[in-house]
Amino acid sequence: MIKENTLYMVVPCYNEEPVLHETAKRLKEKYISLMERCLISEDSRVVFVNDGSKDRTWEIIQTLHKEAPEIFSGINLARNSGHQNAVLAGLMTVKDICSMAITMDADLQDDINAIDAMVEKFHEGNHVVYGVRSARDTDTFFKKFTAEGFYKFMKVMGADVVYNHADFRLMSARVLQELANYKEVNLFLRGMVPLIGFQSCNVYYERAERFAGESKYPLRKMLGFAVNGITSFSTKPLKLITAMGFIMSVVSLLAMLWTIVVKIAGASELGWSSTVCSIWFIGGLQLLAMGIIGEYVGRIYAEVKQRPRYIVADFINNTKTEDKQ
Ligand code: UDP
Ligand code: MG
Repeated sequence: MIKENTLYMVVPCYNEEPVLHETAKRLKEKYISLMERCLISEDSRVVFVNDGSKDRTWEIIQTLHKEAPEIFSGINLARNSGHQNAVLAGLMTVKDICSMAITMDADLQDDINAIDAMVEKFHEGNHVVYGVRSARDTDTFFKKFTAEGFYKFMKVMGADVVYNHADFRLMSARVLQELANYKEVNLFLRGMVPLIGFQSCNVYYERAERFAGESKYPLRKMLGFAVNGITSFSTKPLKLITAMGFIMSVVSLLAMLWTIVVKIAGASELGWSSTVCSIWFIGGLQLLAMGIIGEYVGRIYAEVKQRPRYIVADFINNTKTEDKQ
């Protein structure tokens, strides 16, 4: 049997050598205090998921586990699978040996002190607790602008995400069991979790700056993530294409009327520029529409292949998982 109130923290790590020791130190302190307050059981663990790092991240995780197996566990993925997949790999690995799991980034941007409130909310009967950032003062203007734009755009595009919530959240084992049934390859966890339902609430925290190292989310990856979020959760862009097509048809009908009027007025020579402009405009519009459809086709292709989303190479954990059925 799983001990009541067993908390597993899932921390994805990709080249996090500079911060890992500090993160581990702070999490250990937090775990000890939570255990003393009897909020979590002594079977609780912190699981670092090494997402195919190129530096010494995995060695550090192994050392942490060796030094304090009563706190630290580790998962080694066979290769880099991306943040969302690394988080899912961790969650799916621990779903049968925990009562709740919290996902958190390794870079200490998420406030470790919010964990207390999350666990308390779990004790109050919540199955999902979203960590929501209360301010973005520590972000660069660019990150703030793009991130807030992202949430607003997502909403307009029909993907219902919790505003200013990233992937810092608590989920109960019950919710994890349900999450296991979501088989999509294009993962967008913050869109999926609200779909599962169950009683949920928010916990507010101030997001700090990355403790050390560099962001693994350059603009290119961030844009990819946004496109993934939208196309995985809504077909609104496809509807927009239809609407655009309809509007264009009406406009061209008006333009036709206009040419007839011009013709009757006897000034039919003019109109070279309007012709050229419309060719470019329609051409652009068509390419855009095809591009959007292409995005969806590409995603369908990835989904139908049903390839594994991650491969766990090692799981180091000292709790006897075979006893815990
Ligand atoms: N991460 C990962 N795999 C990747 C990229 C990132 O596991 O391919 C992890 C990374 O180690 C960190 C978290 O995902 O713990 C968030 O990444 P980061 O802090 O670089 O993103 P940002 O906070 O800048 O959006
Ligand atoms: Mg970060």
